Amino acid sequence: MPDDTAVPDLYRLAFMPGCFRCPKCGFQLSKVCINPNLDLIGTREEDRQSEPCPNDGTMLVHVTYKEQLEVYADRLKEEFERFDTYQTAVKEFLGEVLAVARNSSLSNEARIEKICEALRVEILPRDSIKQIIDREQQEAGK
Ligand SMILES: [Zn+2]
Repeated sequence: MPDDTAVPDLYRLAFMPGCFRCPKCGFQLSKVCINPNLDLIGTREEDRQSEPCPNDGTMLVHVTYKEQLEVYADRLKEEFERFDTYQTAVKEFLGEVLAVARNSSLSNEARIEKICEALRVEILPRDSIKQIIDREQQEAGK
């Protein structure tokens, strides 16, 4: 059985300072100190001591860098997947709106109506949209 005290520096390096997780409920606690007067950012020795979980009283365990990085990596993957989903949806939506806007067989009123329908909300009062389109057409015709 390895002796934890034989290589204390290695064990200290494996753990995120002041970062604990409850093995029972997953509660996570970060104890970090920021004190500009003392020029101190990080953890103090007392911040590196475990304490009971506030939810269930189980002693919190140190979080290793590897565990925390795996959590961050999983979160990052989730965010990239969400981003891809939203990006695809926005591209499809804009494609539909542009197709309507460029459809010259429709009257301006019909285009405004369809775009507002696609938006499912009225971003601007329809009269304002009509004024903007009319103004742009007048300026384009100059
Ligand atoms: Zn707990």
